Amino acid sequence: MTAVGLDRIVLAQKRISSHIRRTPLSVSDTLSTHCDFPIHLKLESHQSTGSFKLRGATNAVLSFDSKAKKAGLVTASTGNHGRALAHAAQAEGVRAVICMSALVPDNKVEAVKALGAEVRIVGYSQDDAQEEVERLVREEGLNQIPAFDHADVIAGQGTIGLEIAEACPDAELVLVPLSGGGLAAGIAAAIKGRLPQVRVIGVSMERGAAMYESLRAGRPVTVEELQTLADSLGGGIGLQNRYTFAMCRDLLDDVVLLTEEEIAEGIRHAFTAEGEVVEGAGAVGIAALLAQKVDVRGPTVVVVSGCNIDEELHNSILSSGSNAVSAAGGRGR
Ligand SMILES: *Cc1c(COP(=O)(O)O)cnc(C)c1O
Repeated sequence: MTAVGLDRIVLAQKRISSHIRRTPLSVSDTLSTHCDFPIHLKLESHQSTGSFKLRGATNAVLSFDSKAKKAGLVTASTGNHGRALAHAAQAEGVRAVICMSALVPDNKVEAVKALGAEVRIVGYSQDDAQEEVERLVREEGLNQIPAFDHADVIAGQGTIGLEIAEACPDAELVLVPLSGGGLAAGIAAAIKGRLPQVRVIGVSMERGAAMYESLRAGRPVTVEELQTLADSLGGGIGLQNRYTFAMCRDLLDDVVLLTEEEIAEGIRHAFTAEGEVVEGAGAVGIAALLAQKVDVRGPTVVVVSGCNIDEELHNSILSSGSNAVSAAGGRGR
């Protein structure tokens, strides 16, 4: 039995369903032809705030007692969780402080501010931002809602798995973008609970795949944080990881890694063939199919996790493929 099971995800679904969108599951004709099986896109890029993170954040905020809500909320975030938490907190009339590293793109910082949250820019890594969170918890009594390693957050993300199992019971494979593993752990717990025979495969970028390296090492390890087109997949899994490492280890059938070129191709395909604006992290499932990095044996669901990409970056990827990759994503820090 995993830390977050089906029961908890079903409860989360009841709690959040009137606060989030049930996102479309749409067949991709071109990918279906490419793979010889029906390929469905679960478009969490259509979720309010532009990513699935609203599900976990909303479940966590709604699960807080009134004392905790009064004290306010704090998190470290590469952007989408911060935005989601700001939205969820505003909906409940709760103060939210979002700590980010200086590597987070400007469009994400502005989006969080526009939702009424306080932003603190600290250091150059997710770990630096996390230290500030811990200081605010210690010294100012705020309550932390982490981006992935939290039972209510995982359960909230898992509601995507329930929707997939309902809408596509003949699925053979589900592809899930993988970073800290809240999304993959929640979806895998829901899918394996409802449809045990379905494979769930995580997809990360080669540049800084913390969960992949941790699974290989058999324990949480740190990896160097590198700039990547899949910026929402950056950051570590936490050396004190409580939930997502064990859940990903026990529930995922495999993890595959992608180059920056392959991710760019996924973003281009999403726009030109599917008419969808998708950020790098959101495009990795599509990219894995295009690059034939996974063995497709039946109907497949691809979780398209978010749409929050800088417009200029998106344009440059569309117009000048490999040049955009080396200009925007090829440089480490
Ligand atoms: C956060 C995020 C992910 C990864 O989710 P984890 O729970 O950290 O694995 C994937 N895609 C997008 C768009 C995200 O914002």
